Amino acid sequence: MTCCSGQPSESHDLNRKVNRDDKRLLNCSAVDVNQLWPLKYEWAWEHYINGCANNWMPSEVSMQRDVELWKSSQLSAGERLLIMRNLGFFSTGESLVGNNIVLAIFRHITNPEARQYLLRQAFEEAVHTHTFHYICESLGLDGREVFNMYREVDAIAGKDAFVMSLTRQILAPDFSTATLEGIQDFIRNLVGFYVIMEGIFFYSGFVMILSLHRRNLMTGIGEQFQYILRDETIHLNFGIDLINTIKEENSTVWTASLQDQLTAMVRDAVEYEIRYAQDCLPTGVLGLNAGLFRDYVQYIADRRMQRIGLPKAYNSQNPFPWMSETIDLTKEKNFFETRVTEYQTGGTLAW
Ligand code: FE
Ligand code: MN
Repeated sequence: MTCCSGQPSESHDLNRKVNRDDKRLLNCSAVDVNQLWPLKYEWAWEHYINGCANNWMPSEVSMQRDVELWKSSQLSAGERLLIMRNLGFFSTGESLVGNNIVLAIFRHITNPEARQYLLRQAFEEAVHTHTFHYICESLGLDGREVFNMYREVDAIAGKDAFVMSLTRQILAPDFSTATLEGIQDFIRNLVGFYVIMEGIFFYSGFVMILSLHRRNLMTGIGEQFQYILRDETIHLNFGIDLINTIKEENSTVWTASLQDQLTAMVRDAVEYEIRYAQDCLPTGVLGLNAGLFRDYVQYIADRRMQRIGLPKAYNSQNPFPWMSETIDLTKEKNFFETRVTEYQTGGTLAW
């Protein structure tokens, strides 16, 4: 029995040994058991193990200092707007990533260890969405305002519509990865979510909040964002391994025209993100203004493109070098002197 003949076979031969060809990323049996043993893609398993080691819940972070600061008159109008617009994007943006996994890509990624990771990631996206509910609740914010910004603030609506159109494409009833065009559409979805949404859109949002955190402002939200950033670093790495492996295994799909389209997508995304930064920082706040975000977004866009084998488009410098420190410090003592980066649980049970 082969499961890779286009039409998946769902019959079960108990004496059959699983071979590596039965475990392809795309176009294997969609409803067989997840046969983890033997592992084929060690990278997928490793991302899964790393994700699990980073278990956390938003409610473990104290918001007391944030509540006091938020209720005081010490934050400027610009800082308040920045925080609100930031929460407005993430509160619903995280759920779009979870939905794309569960509703769109999971059924097409048929490799068991990759599916194992996707199940873990979907849970993390739920935790991230939970975080924004918890922040609204703790600070006594108008949750309706925060969670409705994707409809009411154009710069957020534009980013969300951009990625949602990619989910819709995969959800079309006649979508399949059995054709070259289908795999190309699938890669567009993965680039849209892993590279653009999680790898570009999220990172300028992280800069905004972590830069306040560096100034000792809203440190509870800052700590939540450090946890989220740690998770997102793995999401991004998984996505890049996934895209590169699909490319390797289906080399004919990586045409010059697909590469041009992906580069154009990233360029559009960069413009969306610059508009969003202008919207969050109309007058700038200490150490941050929309111009710096233009450089930052272009800088990370170049890095992401190189990782999937596309040429750089901008050659901009990183205006926030401290961000790479923040990302690299996940396993070391951290300079924010919060406990986040040392905090990993291997599953502790107390009876
Ligand atoms: Fe997330
Ligand atoms: Mn994510």
